[in-house]
Amino acid sequence: MPQITGTTKLLGVIGNPIGHSLSPVIHNAAIEQLGLDYRYLAFPVAPANLAIALDGFAAIGLVGCSVTIPHKQTIIPLLAEITPLAQAVGAVNTVWNTPTGWHGTNTDVAGFISPLAAMGRDWSQTTVAVLGNGGAARAVVAGCHQLGCGEIHVFGRDAAKLAQFRSSWQDIQLTVNGDDIPMPVTVQTHLWDELSSLINKANLLLVNSTPIGMYPQIEASPISAEMIQKTGAKAIAYDLIYTPRPTKFLQLAKESGMMTIDGTEMLVQQGAVAFELWLQQSPPIEIMRQTLIQHLATTH
Ligand code: NAP
Repeated sequence: MPQITGTTKLLGVIGNPIGHSLSPVIHNAAIEQLGLDYRYLAFPVAPANLAIALDGFAAIGLVGCSVTIPHKQTIIPLLAEITPLAQAVGAVNTVWNTPTGWHGTNTDVAGFISPLAAMGRDWSQTTVAVLGNGGAARAVVAGCHQLGCGEIHVFGRDAAKLAQFRSSWQDIQLTVNGDDIPMPVTVQTHLWDELSSLINKANLLLVNSTPIGMYPQIEASPISAEMIQKTGAKAIAYDLIYTPRPTKFLQLAKESGMMTIDGTEMLVQQGAVAFELWLQQSPPIEIMRQTLIQHLATTH
């Protein structure tokens, strides 16, 4: 890596806690590969200090940063501008410094879509079942709408939260397949036990956006082995979790003949989009991917 000098510029990630973040690993690998005079650091920022931190970052010329839990929503009123996509998702995960203040967007959506878009399919006949109705589920819904998926169903355990989730999409319009004309986002919500009625639909995309199965609860799966066996082999199982690799859910899905996608590619691709926004150059995605996979293999 180039030496840190008086001209070295700063990027980073803010969250609380932040020590577990894999973003420094991915971004510094890209910075090193391109020989850039930058460093990417993790900054723990308590909720009460968020506004002070942003002012301080602007004062010292920090170029941009990733934003993670618990700041993805609360940062929005502190920004001068956010993209319509971030507005729709209701969360910002990437900000950059401009002469008129901090601007923000959401790159989780592009990250989520990336491995699906790479398949080059027509998604209009696909039914999506999203497990969980938290922050990541919002990026999944926006992504599936952008892909043009036929139906989007979201499953949760709390009726009030589900109702709130559904109504939050009511007036939201987003483009589909890069078209110019935005289309209303249509989401159906269900309690968890209604999943069995959908599970054997043709062309199902089953997405786990809950933390069930995440390290250290590695023996847990959001849906049972019996239920996964009822899912058609043509279904795709997508787990946003990136450690362990694979999760129990993806292990069971693979045993049932389903195609499986884990959360590493989403993590890499959301970072790649952010990197390009900050540095106005294409990131070395393969280096970012390999560094992450190697890091996960040696540390988890
Ligand atoms: P979140 O906002 O806390 O949402 C979690 C959702 O899971 C909520 O709907 C919650 O239900 C549900 N849930 C949690 N435990 C459950 C249980 N035991 N049974 C049923 N439902 C349960 O979290 P998030 O930010 O959306 O993140 C979710 C997962 O996605 C995490 O594992 C995270 O690591 C992963 N993620 C990955 C990436 C990536 O780049 N690969 C990006 C973002 C997130 P209630 O609302 O009822 O509590």
